[in-house]
Amino acid sequence: MRSTKIVATIGPASRDPAVLERMIAVGMDVARLNFAHGAPEQHAEAVERVRAAAERVTGDAHRLPIAWPGFADLVERDDVVYLADGAIRLRVRDSRDGDVEAAVEVGGTVASRQGLNLPNVTMSLPAVSDDDLRLIDAGVQMGVDLMALSFIRRGADLEFALEHQADFIALSFVRSAADVRDLRGLIDQAGSHAAVVAKVEKAEAVEALDAIVAEADALMVARGDLGVEIGPASVPLLQKRIIIRALDNGKPVITATQMLESMVNSTRPTRAEVADVANAIFDGTDAVMLSQETAIGHNPVEAVEMMAAIATSTERDLPYWRMLTERGLRGGDDPAAIAFGAVGAVYQLGLKALVCPTLTGKTARLISSHRPQVPTLALSPRIETVRRCAIYWGVRGELNEEPDDTTVITAGTAVNIPGTTNVIKVEVA
Ligand code: PGA
Ligand code: MN
Repeated sequence: MRSTKIVATIGPASRDPAVLERMIAVGMDVARLNFAHGAPEQHAEAVERVRAAAERVTGDAHRLPIAWPGFADLVERDDVVYLADGAIRLRVRDSRDGDVEAAVEVGGTVASRQGLNLPNVTMSLPAVSDDDLRLIDAGVQMGVDLMALSFIRRGADLEFALEHQADFIALSFVRSAADVRDLRGLIDQAGSHAAVVAKVEKAEAVEALDAIVAEADALMVARGDLGVEIGPASVPLLQKRIIIRALDNGKPVITATQMLESMVNSTRPTRAEVADVANAIFDGTDAVMLSQETAIGHNPVEAVEMMAAIATSTERDLPYWRMLTERGLRGGDDPAAIAFGAVGAVYQLGLKALVCPTLTGKTARLISSHRPQVPTLALSPRIETVRRCAIYWGVRGELNEEPDDTTVITAGTAVNIPGTTNVIKVEVA
């Protein structure tokens, strides 16, 4: 499972529903609309298409799309289906109209593109070719958790964003914490729960960084305009500084612009671009963003796929323990202490996952800022919290009607064996 999130800008190159579907299937977590380009009708159409594509591709705890034509015809009642390298066991109850209904006998987390195995069925097939086997191995394709949309504020564009229920609203050329507060006021007034992303792209924003980080829901290292404002040579150090400030405050941060720029025309990125994406992840970014690559480039799907591949490869060797211990504690409240303790327990006890019921997502956000090596599942009764998880590093959000005044962190050391779940339970009154 990949932890770094991928934001992709939608434009003429990616408005086609089939392209959007493939972008989601290969790793797009958040779709971004850039109001500096395009007409409102085009953005409206893009919103609709992104949501429709996400619906088609996205699975949840009850429904799992499978990229295996004819799968439903292959299985019958009582067949066993294994997912995620055999970690999850299902038993078929019914199969009809292309849908298979199955009972979960051993549950767990399924990630995109994990394997699906049908022991009974493959045995009974007359002749299984190598191609069929490959198909079986690559069979399951589960999409993103949820799509979110981000916008730039430009007068009427804010109204559009609110009307179309954007989950994130990115504010360009932020100069001070007051700018962020003003936008939040307008969002609140409209009764929206959209998160405010402060785009750091001016020298003033760098000077007021601490106050802006404290005020914003998320940060963006907007390297394009930042490079114009303060010179490209200063950008790498500022990127590190902004990311560290964001992490220290438990706020998510997106690194943006020219990450795989050459893929606008080429199917392969330059090695320098690959290193740039990897280094942003080493710096501690939550999300990486594609702009022209997916908006007007010739290879939007390949760009997302490449981003996902670099992230997966880089995450194999991040200094997880050092990221926890060197950066140390955050803030002084109970959720901060719980988050730190829970991530420490991951390594001390060899935990496989963290499960975190959360109302506002704060605990999940704080856990994420310590960059645990295992996935975090955030369960919340609030849809806006679930959607915000789309940019939190390593966090998957899921809607769940749990009581909300307690913080409970549970973790299983042997996820495949029922009854062996170890539980850390901390209640906050
Ligand atoms: P933009 O912001 O793409 O909206 O200009 C990002 C940047 O400036 O890098
Ligand atoms: Mn900009």
